[in-house]
Amino acid sequence: MRVTPLSLFRTVSRCPRTRAILPRAVQYGIRWLSSSSERQWSTPLAKSLAEAITTTGPIPVAAYMRQCLTNSEGGYYTRQTTGHDQFGAKGDFITSPEISQVFGELVGIWLYTEWIAQGRRGNVQVIEVGPGRGTLMADVLRTISTFKAFAKSIETIYLIEASPHLREQQAKLLAENVQLKETDSDMGIAGWSAPSKHITGCNVIWCEDIRFVPKKETETPFILAHEFFDALPIHVFQNISSSNIPVASKIITPTGSITPKHPTQPPRNQWHELMVFPTPSPSLSSTTAPSSSKAEVEEFQLTVSKTPTPHSLYLPHTSPRYKALSNTPNTIIEISPESLSYVSDFAVRIGGSSPPSTITSPSSSPTTPPFSKPTPSGAALILDYGTLNTIPANTLRGIRSHRPCSPFISPGLVDLSADVDFLALAESALSASPNIEVHGPVEQSFFLSTMGIKERAERLVRAAKEGHRLGQGKVDTENVKETVKRLEGGWKRLVDRGPTGMGRIYKAMAIVPYNEKVVRRPVGFGGDIVA
Ligand code: SAH
Repeated sequence: MRVTPLSLFRTVSRCPRTRAILPRAVQYGIRWLSSSSERQWSTPLAKSLAEAITTTGPIPVAAYMRQCLTNSEGGYYTRQTTGHDQFGAKGDFITSPEISQVFGELVGIWLYTEWIAQGRRGNVQVIEVGPGRGTLMADVLRTISTFKAFAKSIETIYLIEASPHLREQQAKLLAENVQLKETDSDMGIAGWSAPSKHITGCNVIWCEDIRFVPKKETETPFILAHEFFDALPIHVFQNISSSNIPVASKIITPTGSITPKHPTQPPRNQWHELMVFPTPSPSLSSTTAPSSSKAEVEEFQLTVSKTPTPHSLYLPHTSPRYKALSNTPNTIIEISPESLSYVSDFAVRIGGSSPPSTITSPSSSPTTPPFSKPTPSGAALILDYGTLNTIPANTLRGIRSHRPCSPFISPGLVDLSADVDFLALAESALSASPNIEVHGPVEQSFFLSTMGIKERAERLVRAAKEGHRLGQGKVDTENVKETVKRLEGGWKRLVDRGPTGMGRIYKAMAIVPYNEKVVRRPVGFGGDIVA
């Protein structure tokens, strides 16, 4: 199967760009030494992945993604980058908070409206998963700090980040000092902390996984996930008619083997997992590097597993949405159990957990202790690109230097992502907690427009022009023109509803407490501000 990158989903900057200067071997993918038959890999990670697969056999797409993105040696996010990080014009992609400060400001206002609507509760935890450079959180906290009572209610700010290098970047924007202290054991949190730059008396605590963030029934968690879920690994399954998964002619029992009386079952549709394995070695004759990066060689490829895998036997049977497709040959479905586990965690923090017997989602773990929350509180806001209601198929893609590329070149140097299945997230959240409700997904343009993006951007433009008028002579006219251009271009880009516009392909979804006495919609999802 070929993976067809759709359009560019982490957003391609429209600035003119030059290709990142990379070592030759990396730029052209693999090369071959004429003197030896040993295969040269584009990155050390490619080599170790290939060696591992040679020993264990093909690996699920999820395992490949996980290694490519967060392997501690050479993962895309976890590796040491030189000169610049993964984001912005010099990096590989640009995200909404990097495009306009208004994005983070509106998210901050959204949290404030929820805080008011839920009765201005104390013990607030602000949590962000996958904070990137920390730009979104900086804009959110700057905005929140102007609402004094809300700012006072914040106990701790938690950042869930796998990359030590990005943690350092985030500390530069968000902490009083960049010297992160390991949290001590009596705090009961495995992580690092530093005082917040924006919220007085509050600590920022970094953890590698949300499970390390304390869950207390008195806490009110406000959770943000922007372009996080698309980076979590997916399993991919293809529906095969006349499946060749062998039907045993003998059944092994403790007392010996028996031959079933009924005839072997006719072949039927089965879900087979797509697995990753290295491409065959190119011939030794291809000793020269291709002259154009177009010819970059894919070092890995997909194959349909002939036998069941632990995931193919389980995941496609966890939702009626997948079951409805179980007799449609060649259908492809993508399932991200890690995403489902994260979103279930969000739901439980807000509403408390469901009794164990009612949990059926693939994210449920029998070892998760029950968590009861007498008064549900808090909210989660998920913003990402993905489908409104269909199951993503064929969406694994690579992105490098603001261009789509194969996910199977230069492992660790290419960003990998996949569409988010919002409906699967909603299903998982609802089955994890009986006391939450889910709103959306709605298109980002709807969310931001109803949050007042146009009005906010226009106010900033007026302020920039006014500042210039009052400070004539002191303020550089060119700078002001540039600021105005950036502000106007920025917000319009975020709500652009063209076929590949950010306003259309990005979606927003919210999880809030369920309150049978007060039926309301959150702001940005069709609701009004509740005072
Ligand atoms: N929210 C940011 C960055 C998005 S990129 C923005 O919109 O600009 C994805 C982020 O998630 C990065 O910070 C990356 O290091 C982090 N990340 C990816 N996989 C992760 C994982 N499994 N656990 C924790 N953080 C992860």
